[in-house]
Amino acid sequence: MRRTLSVPRTVSPFTATTLGAPRIGPHRELKRAIEGYWAGRIDKAQLESVAADLRAQTWNQLTAAGLDSIPVNTFSYYDQMLDTAVLLGALPGRYTDLTHELDRYFAAARGTAEIAPLEMTKWFDTNYHYIVPEIGPSTQFSLNPAKVVAELEEAQELGIAARPVIIGPITFLALSKAVDGAEPPIGRLDELIAVYATLLATLANHGAEWVQIDEPVLATDMLDDAADLARHAYNVLGDLSYRPAIFVATYFGELTDALPALAATPVEAIGIDLVAGSASTVAVVPELANKTVVAGVVDGRNIWRTDLQSALGTLASLLGSVAHLAVSTSCSTLHVPYALDAEPDIDAVLRSWLAFGFEKVTEVVALAKGLTQGREAIAGEVAASNGAIASRTSDPRLHNNDVRERLASILASGLTRGQAADRRKSQDARLNLPVLPTTTIGSYPQTVEIRKARAALVAGEIDDTEYTNRMKAEVESVIRLQERLGIDVLVHGEPERNDMVQYFAEQLEGFFATANGWVQSYGTRCVRPPILFGDVARPKPMTVDWATYAQSLTDKPVKGMLTGPVTILAWSFVRDDQPLADSANQVALAIRDETVDLEAAGIAIIQVDEPALRELLPLRRKDKDAYLDWAVSAFRLSTSGVADATQIHTHLCYSEFGEVIGAIADLDADVTSVEAARSHMEIVGDLTAAGFANSIGPGVYDIHSPRVPNTGEIADGLRAALSAVGPERLWVNPDCGLKTRKADEVEAALRNMVEAAKQVRADA
Ligand code: GLN
Ligand code: ZN
Repeated sequence: MRRTLSVPRTVSPFTATTLGAPRIGPHRELKRAIEGYWAGRIDKAQLESVAADLRAQTWNQLTAAGLDSIPVNTFSYYDQMLDTAVLLGALPGRYTDLTHELDRYFAAARGTAEIAPLEMTKWFDTNYHYIVPEIGPSTQFSLNPAKVVAELEEAQELGIAARPVIIGPITFLALSKAVDGAEPPIGRLDELIAVYATLLATLANHGAEWVQIDEPVLATDMLDDAADLARHAYNVLGDLSYRPAIFVATYFGELTDALPALAATPVEAIGIDLVAGSASTVAVVPELANKTVVAGVVDGRNIWRTDLQSALGTLASLLGSVAHLAVSTSCSTLHVPYALDAEPDIDAVLRSWLAFGFEKVTEVVALAKGLTQGREAIAGEVAASNGAIASRTSDPRLHNNDVRERLASILASGLTRGQAADRRKSQDARLNLPVLPTTTIGSYPQTVEIRKARAALVAGEIDDTEYTNRMKAEVESVIRLQERLGIDVLVHGEPERNDMVQYFAEQLEGFFATANGWVQSYGTRCVRPPILFGDVARPKPMTVDWATYAQSLTDKPVKGMLTGPVTILAWSFVRDDQPLADSANQVALAIRDETVDLEAAGIAIIQVDEPALRELLPLRRKDKDAYLDWAVSAFRLSTSGVADATQIHTHLCYSEFGEVIGAIADLDADVTSVEAARSHMEIVGDLTAAGFANSIGPGVYDIHSPRVPNTGEIADGLRAALSAVGPERLWVNPDCGLKTRKADEVEAALRNMVEAAKQVRADA
């Protein structure tokens, strides 16, 4: 049943929108409901009603704020890539026996006792994790539009100017993983375009005037032929005679040659991220004179208030080059907290510098008004924005001269330690460890007692002293456990840390924490990133008491545990008024001071974790070297203040190093632990081949699974590693921290690990 619309179609243009909105609920209502459903506390109908209420609330708020086109289908029970896999009939066969649709969906997201979940990985360079679809020879795409159609109808019934949002075919395939020997999924673009064609007709049938198709991959170097693929896909979809108007949204970077390619296709609108990229790219593409350009001038992924005057200037500069200009956030506001009104305790000055999701929408509306009615129409808003910016630039907390001077002088004197071989000699003499020393990555299970104590402290039922005493009891029990197991290098277990970044941010000047600034990290997991707003200083030691207490309980060495500068930045909202490299160095200086204090307190081994080193890697190849330079240099700044006899460890949470492998060697840590169990120790050889000559602790078992590894398989892994490095360079440890595991699993697994190390030592 195909109706024909006239082409060029007559659609009403929109002027103010956002690319997507947070969905977990202003008070994490969705998280609670989903976890309640998993635990059997509520049923499907109750879960659906919480979700529908949240959707209606979001759409009504966006409409009331003044947006004239509202994104729908940006809601998700877990993740939008997983939703897209379901939409396209691309769930792997192992889930098809689960007949209950919602349970099948959650099985793909999280696994069941019998079936492995899909993998999860970072969404571009954000802290959001998406579910990675698997595309194999048996994947048969088919359209399953129930969710997007239901949300469209739901919004239409509420009188919302709804614009369905779907992830585009190029991005979907580029982010999917080939399985069972299949070729790279992008080879199946034509098949998928046919499915999208049917989807577009379906959405037109349901009265969608506009559809937003997200293609962020076009702003990256993930595909070599992105421009050609874009030209092809959107010529085919654009040429369809029966479809809604198409808005191709891109974000997180500049488009380069994909922009003229898209502009030459029949799509009606193109979204450009003008926070990450520059407006000058628009004027040089003559075809944009026939398009709506959706200008992402309000930063959708950081929390700073927009400089309205400068954004208006950017918008004005575009007017002559495009047919119609709409204002938008640069990307979905999924990446920022809901609204500032949930933060009554932030001091008024700081607060005036900020814009969370809701405030960003009001900025978009103001800018659209300024654009259509003239600058005078928003004179009040511009004045307030100028005032906030003036207050921020002149705030004394942004400039700490002591910190800047000390930093300059340390940087000038160089960040090198002694030669690795000399360090090893002094460390061996001091530590006296066996070959193949055993250790763990830092955290031990967050037990019920720990959680109870933390809740009681927050509720005011116990005081700081009582809380500290309870945490000390935990430390003692973790030390005793490690002694019983015969581990060589101990840790204190990190019970006092809510989060490995927040814990440090709370103790550093220049950061502040929000009370309710929750952002979805993946599924129902939410994080509250600290806000880095000023120069960073460390008023006093942060971890020394814990480390020395733990060390006082045992004769074995206890590692001091710190989070590295790159990871602290990666998991915070960062200041946008100076290069990231400068902020990294300031954090690094604070960590360096901490290492020096730990050393002075007698701690012989200090671990500086950098699990986020790879995820901050820029999306464009041309920017990567500069990033790795400053990231490595910040790490070295944080670790080069100690004597050669103090052993520096680092931990990286992944095994596919790819473009960062050279940087790992440049970090020059004495010992580097990495994830390796799932990739069968190949990483040991890869690292050695890349010139890495220090010690390595390839994770000998996967801590992400409750399964207890047996001694034989751990010993086999160690022997495999020994074929790539000599015994004097090999450490024995799990893949990552143990905080998500149960105490009995941890004890059993570590017992087998220590036993395996003994067996392999005997014949090494
Ligand atoms: N030391 C941290 C822990 O063990 C490291 C966590 C991580 O790698 N993300 O929990
Ligand atoms: Zn880890």
